[in-house]
Amino acid sequence: MAKLKVGIAFFYHESHSFVSGKTTLKDFRDEGYFKGQEIMEAYLGTKTEVGGFIDVLSAENRVEIVPLLCAAAIPSGVVSFETYHLLEQELMSSLLDAGRLDGLLLALHGSMVAENVLDPERELLSKIRAFLGPDIPIATTLDMHANLSSEMIEYTPYHFGFKTYPHIDMYDQGVKAARTLLQHLLEGKRAEAAFIKLPMMPPSINMKTAEGPMHTLVTLAKGMENKGEIMNASVFGGFPYSDVPMAGASVLTIARTKEEAEKAAKRLAKKFWDVKEEFIQKLPGVKDGVQLALIEKAEKPVVLADISDNPLSCGSGDTTELLREIIRLNLKGSLFGGLNDPESIEKCRKSGIGTEVELTLGGKISPEFGLPIKLTARVNALSDGVFYNSGPFNQNLRVDAKGAAYITAGNVDILLIGRGLSANDPEMFRHIGIEPAAYHILGLKVKNHFRAAFDPLISKVIYIDAPGAASNDLTHFKYKNIPHQIWPFKTVQFELSGEDRQNGNS
Ligand SMILES: [Zn+2]
Repeated sequence: MAKLKVGIAFFYHESHSFVSGKTTLKDFRDEGYFKGQEIMEAYLGTKTEVGGFIDVLSAENRVEIVPLLCAAAIPSGVVSFETYHLLEQELMSSLLDAGRLDGLLLALHGSMVAENVLDPERELLSKIRAFLGPDIPIATTLDMHANLSSEMIEYTPYHFGFKTYPHIDMYDQGVKAARTLLQHLLEGKRAEAAFIKLPMMPPSINMKTAEGPMHTLVTLAKGMENKGEIMNASVFGGFPYSDVPMAGASVLTIARTKEEAEKAAKRLAKKFWDVKEEFIQKLPGVKDGVQLALIEKAEKPVVLADISDNPLSCGSGDTTELLREIIRLNLKGSLFGGLNDPESIEKCRKSGIGTEVELTLGGKISPEFGLPIKLTARVNALSDGVFYNSGPFNQNLRVDAKGAAYITAGNVDILLIGRGLSANDPEMFRHIGIEPAAYHILGLKVKNHFRAAFDPLISKVIYIDAPGAASNDLTHFKYKNIPHQIWPFKTVQFELSGEDRQNGNS
């Protein structure tokens, strides 16, 4: 008997509508852009969604994996018109070249925005569904920060959102999506989905799942799954820097019957609405945040998290205000990184290890959030910037920082990297000879994902709202496309009894 052919693809981007630069094909090439068999080499053995797809499908001898296209770029500006359409075309051509497919696994983000396309994932899914026809099952994985529209469940009920933030269950959701697809294909099991969009757009600073309101919601979701009431429940916080009509929070449940799925979705949506105020946090600015770190007396390092410039929230990774304050105070035992500055790395390379070099650090990509810092630094080490994640987040994945330099200015150690990357894994520092656990103060370009690997190494995190593209204060942004009636900008009524709330924005 011929094997069942299951396609796997990955199309992933979180797009910030308010940063000036567009995301281009180069950004996808820098992060992860693979075709056909290259996909197996890049993702086999990684704790990613695609790693999960591969493991489940490989273990089933009635299935043949058909790797199609993987394209992922680090969160950044809106995807350029040319890039989006090129990648969409490549994905559609790969489907055409694959011939007959019996199923498709698709890892998506859910908060991509392209020039002239406000809901690319929906558009892509609609084209794929039209191409495959109505009967071929499709299962997707989605980021917890997806801005979903209700149309997503018209193309398939099988969507699996991450349940952890830091997202350390990407692999698990990939496994779940693949198993559900196989149940459909091999055992004939079917499911229904229910979706509820909430009129709210919470900031993401307090969405971590270890505690707080998202912990409450994920616990409720898992409880319903464990009791067997439903097959899966996803809670989406949304991504508030995408200016799109479908911005904001939603819940999506999958069950054997529509009634069960709807009942569970309503329960989750009601709880989400009830806890929404807990997502709001007021954060200190740079000077106050640094002073808070200085009064800590713990053995392990204190992290000053420069969340507004977190590259995984679309920060450029080159803003300077936190670094400027750490240098001004010449803080003993301090490390800052990774600052996105390929020009300075090149200067360090020309100057050589062990030399002193005049540098103009950062502030080149987004000077509106802080000008460059002129200083003299010693070059301690240089590298090509390639390392493998050792922590639970994207474990074993190869990361290419496009060069790195370890420099010292006064008492401050600084890691320069060749592109914007969150310091989510200690290997970013260790690969060049820096041990982050050995410092008192770590100034990091991060938000929440780094905690998966760093929490055992540190004593405390102080979140700082410095100037930057990913500020926690959403009133900085001039939205044009989000719904007019959306919390926290407006006081909104939300009732769950009406049918209309099953189907879109309220
Ligand atoms: Zn996310």
